Amino acid sequence: MVRIGLAMLQGARHEHAEALRAASSQLHLGIEIVELRRALEVDEHLDCLILPGGESTAMRKASQSESLLSALYSWMEQHPQRPVLGTCAGAILLANPGEPQAPFLRAEISRNAWGRQRDSFEAEVEISLDTPSGGRISPKVATRDRFNHKPLPVSDTSPLHNNSAFHGVFIRAPRFEQSSIECTPVAMLGEEIVGVLDGSRLALTFHPELTGDYRFHRWLILQANASQ
Ligand code: GLN
Repeated sequence: MVRIGLAMLQGARHEHAEALRAASSQLHLGIEIVELRRALEVDEHLDCLILPGGESTAMRKASQSESLLSALYSWMEQHPQRPVLGTCAGAILLANPGEPQAPFLRAEISRNAWGRQRDSFEAEVEISLDTPSGGRISPKVATRDRFNHKPLPVSDTSPLHNNSAFHGVFIRAPRFEQSSIECTPVAMLGEEIVGVLDGSRLALTFHPELTGDYRFHRWLILQANASQ
């Protein structure tokens, strides 16, 4: 059983939970999703972590009363080998945790660097991360949708083979400062790096949880399982 901590500060957190359930079903590997709202809930029994996308300023504010972010950062420092997935605003929080906390990524990031909300876009991304393939999603999981969220249907949702194209959903996305990147690029939008892996930390500037392609969630679950 893999215990996954999901930061519930703000943003696309329920979509990540749905994606994790689908990925777990594909892998036939049991998971427990631990919804994190308060510092107290962050314990050493978490095997991995997700920092969802949304609005990083709102997340920092939401964290103030219960100190969730500082607890997550301490956890990451104490368990550097345990995998963390940060998407979009989550990538911002990894690259720029705020003084005095040292960054968790060797890459700088600029917020809203593609422009305004109306400049959000979808595009094919080329991924080079070794993501595990998985079986079919059981119908019970596929129809489970407490929040009425519908994953975006994407052209290649076949979980059985692993091609390198991924449908990237960029919503008021940040951009990595390309010349600052000192860790491994794992996702490219043309010539631009839009996903990096730094040790066990995976940061993507797009939103994989909004599509029906759960490769990154399968990666997280299997990495966490392996590092247990
Ligand atoms: N623009 C957001 C921020 O700066 C990130 C966007 C997202 O997570 N989709 O926090």
